[in-house]
Amino acid sequence: MSIKENKLQLYNSLSRKKEVFEPIKGPHVGMYVCGPTVYGDAHLGHARPGIAFDLIFRYLKHLDYKVRYVRNITDVGHLENDADHGEDKIAKKARLEQLEPMEIAQYFSDRYIDNMDALNVLRPSIQPRASGHIIEQMEMVSKILDAGFAYEAKGSIYFDVVKYNKKHNYGKLSGRNIEDVLENTRDLDGQEDKRESVDFAIWKNASPEHIMRWNSPWGSGFPGWHMECSAMSTKYLGEQFDIHGGGLDLRFPHHESEIAQSVAANGSEPVKYWMHNNMVTIDGQKMGKSLGNFITLDEFFTGSHKLLAQAYEPMTIRFFILQAHYRSTVDFSNEALQASQKGYEKLMNAVETLDKLKASDTNDFDVAQWNRKCYSAMDDDFNSPILIAHLFDAVKIINSVKDGKLKINTENLELLKTAFNSFTFEILGLRKDEKSQSGGELSAKLIDIMLKIRHEAKLNKDWATADQIRNQLTDLGVQIKDTKEGAEWQL
Ligand code: ZN
Repeated sequence: MSIKENKLQLYNSLSRKKEVFEPIKGPHVGMYVCGPTVYGDAHLGHARPGIAFDLIFRYLKHLDYKVRYVRNITDVGHLENDADHGEDKIAKKARLEQLEPMEIAQYFSDRYIDNMDALNVLRPSIQPRASGHIIEQMEMVSKILDAGFAYEAKGSIYFDVVKYNKKHNYGKLSGRNIEDVLENTRDLDGQEDKRESVDFAIWKNASPEHIMRWNSPWGSGFPGWHMECSAMSTKYLGEQFDIHGGGLDLRFPHHESEIAQSVAANGSEPVKYWMHNNMVTIDGQKMGKSLGNFITLDEFFTGSHKLLAQAYEPMTIRFFILQAHYRSTVDFSNEALQASQKGYEKLMNAVETLDKLKASDTNDFDVAQWNRKCYSAMDDDFNSPILIAHLFDAVKIINSVKDGKLKINTENLELLKTAFNSFTFEILGLRKDEKSQSGGELSAKLIDIMLKIRHEAKLNKDWATADQIRNQLTDLGVQIKDTKEGAEWQL
């Protein structure tokens, strides 16, 4: 499928409607997604945008677009409660752990990237860090000051939202009315330095105990949280670029403020298509540390959380998330994940069956028509659940051909193999699970044989042999769990 033939439509959160995708610079696409603030382990709420924008990245590449995908790492400036006063989230963690803030940031960004790798999320083209772009952020603050849309107060620089809103529209993305925001926040905010509660810090004066600080024309301080994304997206994608993504919770005030900063500094709207993934709930509840339902990805992979009935393979999590459209909410439950696991296995079994199918002279299934439906699903704002439904239609056909109930000719079989594999692996980004991937089927069978011999040794009270097999398999990374019938294993 070439770019010309394709009719991709995506939902633009700014216009609140689906629009035909037309990149600013032809086949070159600039995409920026807000990444994590690295002060703790990634959880299901991080997997969602990781996978949602990976699907978009993969599909655009499949259509032969040249995508420059930037996903930042927030390692400075994100204060507690997303406010513009209080302690830095990373500095706080560092203080509690008695480590350098950059040790915290490095440790959790490494773990985040490991988790994303496990979920088969492709690495972005650039993963810039906020702390590595302080100069760019200062320059942007200066531009906003020069343009008259910011003011200084006690060494901090605040964005003048009220003044900006007289000329432009602060609230156009989130649909908020600034008068209402002012009405609701005027008395609640204890910050005296800024003129209006709706104003936000683009540069903050550092209090004496604040560790992460840089010298600036306005004194020693650090950038406001919204500033990094404006500065880094401009640096790597230009003043105007195609797609800006992130979680729905970032739409206001983070993304709203990004628009205002870029318009104030550069005089133009930064983003053509704003895209937001919806949230993950757990048994119908919002996720949160205080609710005790905050499950990290590592806990999912190992099953080590009280709410989890078992461990879940990364591909089960990925498939589970792809079964919902990115703009719908996803509700986690063990039942839902177990159903996803079954669905995923069914799909993987079909891949193997398809590989062995034999063509006939006659044909009962129009693969080209099915293939067009798959593309239509993805062209309709990346509708992965509809695509998955089409894949399961094909699974039925594949199994019927195997059972001899349907026939498929060479031409259709070849197209089915290419398209089925490309939608499953290249576009949805699934892969065969760890067991088959790291050892292959043969290794799995050999391990089963070794464990059978060990079981027989134990029955014969030959403990030396049983222990030897166990120890050597353990050395190879095979974890063995004894059961009544014998043993279970995992890599
Ligand atoms: Zn951001």
